[in-house]
Amino acid sequence: MIREIIRYPNPILRKKCKSVKKVDPHIQILIDDMIETMHAAPGVGLAAPQVAENIRVIVVDIGEGAFAVVNPKVKKKNRVLQTFEEGCLCLPGIVGPVERPSIVTVEGLDRFSQKLVIEAEGFLATVLQHEIDHLDGIVFIDRVKDKSLIREISKKEEEEKKELL
Ligand code: ZN
Repeated sequence: MIREIIRYPNPILRKKCKSVKKVDPHIQILIDDMIETMHAAPGVGLAAPQVAENIRVIVVDIGEGAFAVVNPKVKKKNRVLQTFEEGCLCLPGIVGPVERPSIVTVEGLDRFSQKLVIEAEGFLATVLQHEIDHLDGIVFIDRVKDKSLIREISKKEEEEKKELL
């Protein structure tokens, strides 16, 4: 089921999300719904608070297949930073450059409650960090150092970019 994506500045987007105690059928349904909602948007990642669920679940699909991470945590990050122009499904129509570590190790649980360790670099590293930020009430514009670089993009450019998180 496609869920409604809430819009910034909805206060839900500013809350710290709760850890998932058990990956039960309710969580598995939420994961399915989030993947469907992300694909329909379309987007490359989605965090539970974006569909008004205040819990630590993210889904990602950068074109290599969709997966979920429950209680994701950045365990390691490198010192080398990379910059991508990010957007967000909760802030349609604007993008801005965000600097983040270019390699991260993310740990969490998969949808079957099995331990998951993801070594990510490049765009995937950025997507994971963007989504995990959502779980702590952080949106990408908070991380744009020079706010004058936040720019509006047209619907057409938005469709071409397809990099909305
Ligand atoms: Zn986002």
